[in-house]
Amino acid sequence: MVYDVIIVGAGPAGIFAAMELVRHGKSVLIADKGKLVEERQCPITNGRSSVCVNCDSCSVVSGWGGAGSASDGKLTLTTGFGGNLEENIGEIALEELIEMVDRMFVEYGADPKFYEPGSDVTSATIRKAASVGLKILPARIRHIGTDASRKVLNNMYEDLKQQCDIRMNTTVEDLVIENGRAVGVRLADGAVLRAGHVIVAPGREGAPWLDTLVTKLNIPIASMPVDIGIRVEVPDSICEDLTKHFYEVKCLYNTPTFDDRCRTFCMNPSGFVVHEYNKAHDLVTVNGHSLKTVKSKNTNFAILVTKNFTQPFTDPIGYATHIAKLANMLAGGGILLQRLGDLRDGRRSTWSRIERGMIIPTAKAEPGDLSLVLPHRYLTDIVEFLDALNAIMPGVNQNDTLLYGVEIKLYSLRLKLGEGLRVPVIDGLHMAGDGAGVSRGIIQAAASGVVAARAILGEPLVTARE
Ligand SMILES: Cc1cc2nc3c(=O)[nH]c(=O)nc-3n(C[C@H](O)[C@H](O)[C@H](O)COP(=O)(O)OP(=O)(O)OC[C@H]3O[C@@H](n4cnc5c(N)ncnc54)[C@H](O)[C@@H]3O)c2cc1C
Repeated sequence: MVYDVIIVGAGPAGIFAAMELVRHGKSVLIADKGKLVEERQCPITNGRSSVCVNCDSCSVVSGWGGAGSASDGKLTLTTGFGGNLEENIGEIALEELIEMVDRMFVEYGADPKFYEPGSDVTSATIRKAASVGLKILPARIRHIGTDASRKVLNNMYEDLKQQCDIRMNTTVEDLVIENGRAVGVRLADGAVLRAGHVIVAPGREGAPWLDTLVTKLNIPIASMPVDIGIRVEVPDSICEDLTKHFYEVKCLYNTPTFDDRCRTFCMNPSGFVVHEYNKAHDLVTVNGHSLKTVKSKNTNFAILVTKNFTQPFTDPIGYATHIAKLANMLAGGGILLQRLGDLRDGRRSTWSRIERGMIIPTAKAEPGDLSLVLPHRYLTDIVEFLDALNAIMPGVNQNDTLLYGVEIKLYSLRLKLGEGLRVPVIDGLHMAGDGAGVSRGIIQAAASGVVAARAILGEPLVTARE
């Protein structure tokens, strides 16, 4: 059989592309190397192992729902966050797509309630932040929660499997290109599947594979940004004045010493710090999530420093993974944990110092010294940012604040894509989601899938407005 469209990757980008295509009667195959949601069990999360056992398919980042299904399910419904899709399709189209994608999440079972800053309290906080050089970006957020998110994704699976072919545990090894056109995919077992169009949406997990395609097919690259930082954990009480109004505080800061751009990322009230396994690079980094039903007494969020690297250096991913591996090396294969007070005092943390403090860590980690891992520039940026944040989160820069390292975001290659996320050098080939550097979150990944699907369908991106 020749499908109308083959989609590589069953993350939000792949799933939403498929939903749009089948709605218009197209024959679709989705191939994903991971498992179905209920089969996705990380041995560490379910307590069967204390270290990564390097599963063939990593349940945290691979499988139905993509990295999103093991995630917090925090949907950012504001155009300025979660990706660069606006650069491809413009703000009005993105707004409309976000609205549509969000509506579908609710139809499939997401909590209809969302958080939207807009009160006097939020205006006062934004003013106070500005007085110390912090820029708060108000965002509308819907929180599904990791547990509820799995149900929503299951509902999507049950619906889609009746309308298209879905092959899990199926690794796509290559694209089949004939006369400058993508006409199918070659699987790891050698089988060739053919289609009129191919959408490649392999997420961050598939970024190294995508890298090889980019080189082989000469696909132009726009840029290679990389974010490096740590995850902060504090008692809920330090953030709750903010989180009850904003849910998630998105804050930008240019540091005084190095003038580097830092930001807060992925804030989880009453949440948990988690390990993120990167099989392709064989390393463990830090992330965070919060559950709808099980709550901790801590709030966690990341502080990320964005640096643009200049020529002749062309390997920011290599640089970031090198730093993450240093942390793994010092932490016996896992992640490092340090009190802010110990970092300032130039000494490693120990369990006895952490236990005397006021915060019980929510993740397994090894007490140590982040100054042996992160370059001075990054650490200075992080400490200066925490000092500034203290103006709106009093207590965030106190000695007991816990820092987990390291958190890195390998957004990797940002590809130069044409209208409808077409690959300019090859007909019939579209790229969507995080892997192509189009998105950085669930909502924009899903929206990018719809963009690729509508381009294939020849449908307009936005509905005509009065
Ligand atoms: C722990 C964690 C928490 C997160 N929390 C949030 C959050 O709260 N809110 C938010 O907006 N975002 C969050 N994110 C990010 C979000 O999950 C991603 O932005 C989103 O899932 C990207 O979607 P995608 O479709 O581009 O790729 P992915 O979701 O990564 O899916 C890609 C899929 O492609 C498959 N694949 C890769 N290569 C191949 C291949 N060669 N053959 C076949 N299949 C392949 C993978 O198995 C994977 O299932 C989180 C991520 C993590 C890891």
